[in-house]
Amino acid sequence: MRRFTDRVALVTGAASGIGRALAIRLAHEGAAVVCADLDEDGAKNVAEEISGRERKAYPLRLDVTDEQAVKNSLLITEREFGTVDALFNNAGIGGRSWDLTISVNLSGVFYGLTHGAYYMAKNGGGVIVNTASIAGLLALLPVETHTSPRTPEANEGISSYVAAKHGVAGLTRQFAVMYAHQGVRVNAVAPGYIETPMTQMIQDNQELREFHEKLHPMGRLGTAEEIAGVAAFLASADASFINGAVIPVDGGYSAR
Ligand code: NAP
Repeated sequence: MRRFTDRVALVTGAASGIGRALAIRLAHEGAAVVCADLDEDGAKNVAEEISGRERKAYPLRLDVTDEQAVKNSLLITEREFGTVDALFNNAGIGGRSWDLTISVNLSGVFYGLTHGAYYMAKNGGGVIVNTASIAGLLALLPVETHTSPRTPEANEGISSYVAAKHGVAGLTRQFAVMYAHQGVRVNAVAPGYIETPMTQMIQDNQELREFHEKLHPMGRLGTAEEIAGVAAFLASADASFINGAVIPVDGGYSAR
């Protein structure tokens, strides 16, 4: 399948995990890909891996919390490959302090959406796919069982992550509606727990791993490639009538 021949994609968080799998998948299907990430060396490695297969890729250091840098990343993509047909707002972090988590996981996506949708609307259209989460659809189940009152400190990471991802789901729908008449489709994937560096701690601890595996009716964590496949589908012409959808890719987690 080569659904992205002559198409140009910009992927944030492309150095690792889901973003890396996505950049490789898009390139495999013919796209020229800008691999953007805070981790500059990681972005270079992925771009080299793609270029080594005689496909086009360009590494870019990008901090998605910097609005001007996000705006510039679209112009850099245009400079390198002529335009931006598909934008993947994928960069994200696990729940940390409130401000940092909201800044990366929500504001970063907003900057991509607001500048990306405007750029595409001016240039004849395009597609945007955000990486939300099941945490954008549902509450997450805390692992700890607290016998004493749960402290405010224990709440920050999980709450900020859930709030940011619910925000991403909302922004996906809002931008889909605002730009529907201007040739820009906006959708999101909502992954369950996926085997990437973000969940390394869960993967390495048998008790934690089993706890999380059981939350998914399929009894396992997902792979980055399984998310990349759905994100690529949403960006492709196969999904030409899908707009404003937040698609769970979670082995049935959200079906219960
Ligand atoms: P990952 O392997 O940690 O990859 C995330 C990448 O984003 C890293 O290369 C990271 O760089 C980069 N990044 C972090 N902050 C950034 C910033 N401010 N600007 C640009 N890049 C930044 O994680 P992943 O699992 O692939 O996560 C990708 C997306 O999927 C995230 O939005 C995440 O919330 C979402 N997601 C993941 C899961 C899961 O279970 N893994 C489930 C649902 C949703 P550094 O390494 O330098 O920080």
